Amino acid sequence: MTSRRRLVLLGGGHSHLPVIVAAHGWHDRVDVTLVSPDAQTAYSGMVPGVIAGHYRAQECLIDIERLAGRSGVRFVQAAAVGLDPVQQTIQLGDGAVLPYDVASIDVGATPHLAPALADAVDTGHCGSMTVAPCKPFPMLIDRLDHFIAEHDARPRPVDLCVVGAGLAGIEVSLALAFRMRRHAEARVNLLCGDERLMPAAPRRVGAALERACADRGVTLLRDTRIESVEPGALVTGNGRRIPADLALFATGATAPAWLQGSGLALDPRGFIAVEPTLASVSHPSVFAAGDCASVLQHPRPKAGVHAVRQGPPLAGNLYRCIAGEAPVPFIPQREALALAALGPRSAIAIRNGIAIGGPASRDYLGTALADALARRLWRWKDRIDRAFVGRF
Ligand SMILES: Cc1cc2nc3c(=O)[nH]c(=O)nc-3n(C[C@H](O)[C@H](O)[C@H](O)COP(=O)(O)OP(=O)(O)OC[C@H]3O[C@@H](n4cnc5c(N)ncnc54)[C@H](O)[C@@H]3O)c2cc1C
Repeated sequence: MTSRRRLVLLGGGHSHLPVIVAAHGWHDRVDVTLVSPDAQTAYSGMVPGVIAGHYRAQECLIDIERLAGRSGVRFVQAAAVGLDPVQQTIQLGDGAVLPYDVASIDVGATPHLAPALADAVDTGHCGSMTVAPCKPFPMLIDRLDHFIAEHDARPRPVDLCVVGAGLAGIEVSLALAFRMRRHAEARVNLLCGDERLMPAAPRRVGAALERACADRGVTLLRDTRIESVEPGALVTGNGRRIPADLALFATGATAPAWLQGSGLALDPRGFIAVEPTLASVSHPSVFAAGDCASVLQHPRPKAGVHAVRQGPPLAGNLYRCIAGEAPVPFIPQREALALAALGPRSAIAIRNGIAIGGPASRDYLGTALADALARRLWRWKDRIDRAFVGRF
């Protein structure tokens, strides 16, 4: 008789959701534990819609504790703070140590923040300025709702700043501008570290998104890289002060710091280096997926869509590993479709460097048709997003 194996899942991110569901059928061989500091996880695709006011926060949250319960997975509410791949143990924030035979890590990434910003982000304030990172989402929504409720009670001229002009920052600033559309006294600024939006994307994609910002009255502050804060202002590396009553940080993805001491092989940016099978290149009984992992042979941008796609192959390979079988490689798609929300119930579709819908299509479709296309893209995105959350 073989002894039962122990599978520990760290983080309830997008890739682990199908693993938790699949674990329902694994009881004969394995005890599965899910470790997460939060009992709920947010589906990122719907977060701009929550900010804009199209969804209630609950609609983008997946109850992973309940999902785990339905699959017979033990839920431990804690954060992992260390992993020892030689002893095969995981250290939790409360001091507990969890042994594992197979571990899987899907803890996401953390926003890139200059060290001088850490205090303000932790406390949520710098003087009267409200500060929030775009992740974790429940913290973002909580601080934003609190700010807006106070503003509604006492409207006054305010500067709302979104720092970081990748797709997430752009969607957040458009959503915020839409949410505040009846408040002429609220100015929304999008702070780009470079001269243009999404510098890594083809120029026409950035240009379409710049037009979307102009449509919603979002002011672009170019070449504005924030390094610190002082009460009521964001401060650039060369000392320029940007007045802000609200500052939301959507500043790219960095690896969770605790991975550094884990002994797992990491890529140069500190993300877990994995094979195409999603197994660690250094320790084959540790798997990783989503933003915290880096598939060395198939590098892809950090995006929820890739994390979602890795879920089913990850589930298959975890089970193969438990069963003593060889894992199977997974080749991610080269280009993923991005459906970016534009504030109102309209969206732009971006793939292979081409954007369509709304401001991206007006030159050749005319405004009425291009905007109708953007509304249709939103309805498509809405169906995809709701269906994803509904599955869990
Ligand atoms: C505002 C915004 C909008 C976005 N919109 C899109 C979009 O439309 N499309 C898209 O493709 N991407 C989008 N993204 C990017 C997307 O959010 C990420 O790529 C995606 O969330 C990555 O999923 P993940 O599974 O790696 O981790 P996450 O979804 O971040 O989940 C990680 C989980 O791990 C848990 N965790 C963290 N640390 C620990 C720990 N130490 N121990 C245990 N558990 C831990 C967290 O609580 C969380 O539940 C957006 C990002 C932002 C900020």
